[in-house]
Amino acid sequence: MTLILDGKVARDFYKKALVERVGRLSCIPALSIIQIGDNKESSVYIEQKKKFGLSIGVKVYHIKLSTDVTFDEVAGVVKRENSNREVFGIIIQSPVPEHLDFIKLVNLIDPKRDVDGLTDENQELLAEGKPRFVPATAHGVMLLLDFYKIPVLGKKVAVVGRSRLVGGPIAKVMGMKGANVTVCHSKTPNTAEITRQSDIVIVAVGRPEFINRSYIGEGAVVIDVGINSVYGEYSEKLEEEIPKRKLTGDVDFSNVFDIVSAITPVPSGVGPMTVLSLFDNLVSASP
Ligand code: NAP
Repeated sequence: MTLILDGKVARDFYKKALVERVGRLSCIPALSIIQIGDNKESSVYIEQKKKFGLSIGVKVYHIKLSTDVTFDEVAGVVKRENSNREVFGIIIQSPVPEHLDFIKLVNLIDPKRDVDGLTDENQELLAEGKPRFVPATAHGVMLLLDFYKIPVLGKKVAVVGRSRLVGGPIAKVMGMKGANVTVCHSKTPNTAEITRQSDIVIVAVGRPEFINRSYIGEGAVVIDVGINSVYGEYSEKLEEEIPKRKLTGDVDFSNVFDIVSAITPVPSGVGPMTVLSLFDNLVSASP
């Protein structure tokens, strides 16, 4: 029987301990979320973060900047937040408009407040195996596997995707936990061969239903990080904001379902765990 790895159930379990940690802090910390432009999907994700933050008793500031804001103007806002004594976490919601360099902007964040773990300094610490903050999605994937008691030590793990935000950190953290990790990317010639031989396949590609059963071995655990908004009839939370769209993962869920031992759904898989982990990092950053 296939186990569905429900991120909402796991999130609610970990949330209790997080609320207790917030109660033990010496102040009520704030997370500042800087949004540039009005990407509707970003707005929905930010609302989810605000809702979760408030539910655990922290503050969330949503700073909205216009699409045509200059680099220097954003830099000024980041600088201001860096010195805001209430703010222990700052994130810049991606994507940003094309005229801005996301990583350059991220690097303006005080690394001690970079709860997404994306600054060069925090990426280097992660690469050295001494993370200050594990990027939220990677952290969330590990917590989800832990919750469902899925061991990674000594397992063959394929990570499809190598981005700074998702695939790279997941591969690193998996390696730190003793998994034998192979990273596949757009130039990997034999991705399907690698993933078919893996015990755990983690997919973060950003291509709807890219992975089908030809990529998956019998009994594998599949973690679908992808969140793609495509046209469809299915109704989910996001569609209330973006009519006629549905969310789909990078894995063709129904195509692989009968051959896997466990799989995350999209939505309600990795997504809720990412939000939880962001706030876990915020609480870790707070005194
Ligand atoms: P990204 O920066 O576009 O990176 C995509 C990665 O996939 C790249 O490393 C790319 O390889 C690789 N790739 C592209 N085509 C491939 C192919 N045919 N075979 C193998 N690898 C291929 O995207 P991202 O930011 O990592 O996000 C990935 C997905 O995760 C997106 O759907 C995003 O929405 C989702 N996401 C979900 C959460 C969550 O909480 N669930 C959080 C963040 C992101 P190259 O490096 O060679 O180009």
